[in-house]
Amino acid sequence: TELSHIRNFSIVAHIDHGKSTLADRLIQSTGTVQDREMKAQLLDSMDIERERGITIKAQTVRIDYKALNGETYVLNLIDTPGHVDFAYEVSRSMRAVEGSLLVVDSTQGVEAQTLANVYHALDADHEIVPVLNKIDLPASEPDRIKEQIEDVIGIDASEAMLVSAKTGQGIRETLEAIVHRLPAPKGDRDAPLKAMLVDSWYDLYLGVVVLVRIMDGKLRKNDRIRFMQNGTVHQVDRIGVFKPGMLPVEELGPGEIGFLTASIKQVRDTKVGDTITHEKKGTETPLPGFAPSVPVVFCGLFPVDSAEFEDLRNAIEKLALNDASFSYEMETSAALGFGFRCGFLGLLHLEVIRDRIDREYNIDLITTAPSVVYNVHMKDGEMIELHNPADMPDLTHVSHVEEPRIKATIMVPDDYLGDVLKLCQDRRGIQQELTYAGSRPLVVYDLPLNEVVFDFYDRLKSVTKGYASFDYQITGYRQDNLVKMSILVNDEPVDALSMMVHRDRAEMRGRAMVEKLKELIPRHMFKIPIQAAIGGKVIARETLSAMRKDVTAKCYGGDATRKRKLLDKQKAGKKKMRQFGKVDIPQEAFISALKMD
Ligand code: GDP
Ligand code: MG
Repeated sequence: TELSHIRNFSIVAHIDHGKSTLADRLIQSTGTVQDREMKAQLLDSMDIERERGITIKAQTVRIDYKALNGETYVLNLIDTPGHVDFAYEVSRSMRAVEGSLLVVDSTQGVEAQTLANVYHALDADHEIVPVLNKIDLPASEPDRIKEQIEDVIGIDASEAMLVSAKTGQGIRETLEAIVHRLPAPKGDRDAPLKAMLVDSWYDLYLGVVVLVRIMDGKLRKNDRIRFMQNGTVHQVDRIGVFKPGMLPVEELGPGEIGFLTASIKQVRDTKVGDTITHEKKGTETPLPGFAPSVPVVFCGLFPVDSAEFEDLRNAIEKLALNDASFSYEMETSAALGFGFRCGFLGLLHLEVIRDRIDREYNIDLITTAPSVVYNVHMKDGEMIELHNPADMPDLTHVSHVEEPRIKATIMVPDDYLGDVLKLCQDRRGIQQELTYAGSRPLVVYDLPLNEVVFDFYDRLKSVTKGYASFDYQITGYRQDNLVKMSILVNDEPVDALSMMVHRDRAEMRGRAMVEKLKELIPRHMFKIPIQAAIGGKVIARETLSAMRKDVTAKCYGGDATRKRKLLDKQKAGKKKMRQFGKVDIPQEAFISALKMD
């Protein structure tokens, strides 16, 4: 296809503003998919995505559009991931296209993720076409939202598209805007091949499928190609485009987006952002700015039933095959036995993987407290990257500890502003900005990532009744007074419960932890001390008193069903417990004990 007849774009939006619905409508209205094949949210393919209505991996589709001027254009849509955990992938996939449709729900307005995504689009020098969606709803206020877009984002919204992705209104106009307002890609057909690796995933039949954007040159079947990052060479055995099913093509030229397969075994070998060129007469200069995405949140995954360790290993290996940003290594815990220390891009990523192990592999898991990566500087000058608080070296050898910080952007209605400021302050945040986006406060905080990974987002949603929106990016490392807090149950340390805390907050956290654990651990035949300690010093303590013998004793009278229920419940509870020394600790304790109220 001629460059002048190609348009490459992405759709960016805050969650629920209608990105997937709009993509579906664009695909459907151009006849790319027959109506009977159309299922809602075509591009959201994974089950978890469907259920939660979020897009995790970038997807792409090629749309042939006959414009009103009679010419046929090839429109390549890349659907970017919508969640902060995948910010790196968003910024990379944005570099594969020249423009963005900025979807804003016209009943809601600009939100934190709208802003974050617009910044990615602006970074990638995109032409941006604002799309005000959901204009079919009575609460729609397009004029107010246009003004807000101009105020907050600083782009011209006077010619924003007025769209209902639900009814199809404004879809034709949007397609015309894509053709006439977004630039055509540039590229040189005769230059050496330079293709950007936009995404990759594992397909059961084809092996690794690689999504590429051709910048210069051309790619054909049977070409021998080199991945410039690690120098590996492969022979291409298939190339094609998504419509949205895979359709083979003869050649991919400059400006085009498509896929290749080349008998690649592992997604690990195909890093997002890498440059692909020909083995012979290839380019010398890779595309700029390649930085692989690195895991920022770590936690331990252990099977509840230690007999399931091999099954867990199998599950984790399979999942890692298809997800280069998920890392793992074997871990042994005195308390939990054999398991894996796993690294994730963020909490959602963690949850997705955990859900899939549970659902697709049917393994009951204990998840230990998520932890960020600390830089521990030793007195001898060595620096250790600490992925697991249990591995924290003895304090006498430690010079200082640094933790990752983030810049958090929060938008919230005025009524809840005070609660949000308090929450950020409680989490050791430093306020950086407080401005107004139209009538809505926009707050920017510098926060430690470790105060955010656990339950910050849940708390934010709950104190604002769901009205706040949140986005963050990691800004760097900073030294602070951080120590390891250990938890002892019946005088034995439970390594899986140890955590890094700020010294000033240690007593408070310790007290909250032991109180929670006292509620979560069932009574035993003996009394159990539960303690929090730093180094050898106990900073909080509770005692769980011993149990009376007969658990059904309190159901007096002859209510047999009730008695049976209680016993069944106890049995079910047993299954999900692990023994620590002489004490059974229920699996949910590992997560619940760490939530702060
Ligand atoms: P995404 O998270 O941005 O991908 O948003 P979705 O496309 O999943 O849409 C979120 C919700 O808004 C869904 O329930 C859609 O049915 C609904 N929705 C999307 N577009 C429209 C629209 O134009 N009008 C109305 N009334 N609802 C819409
Ligand atoms: Mg979606």
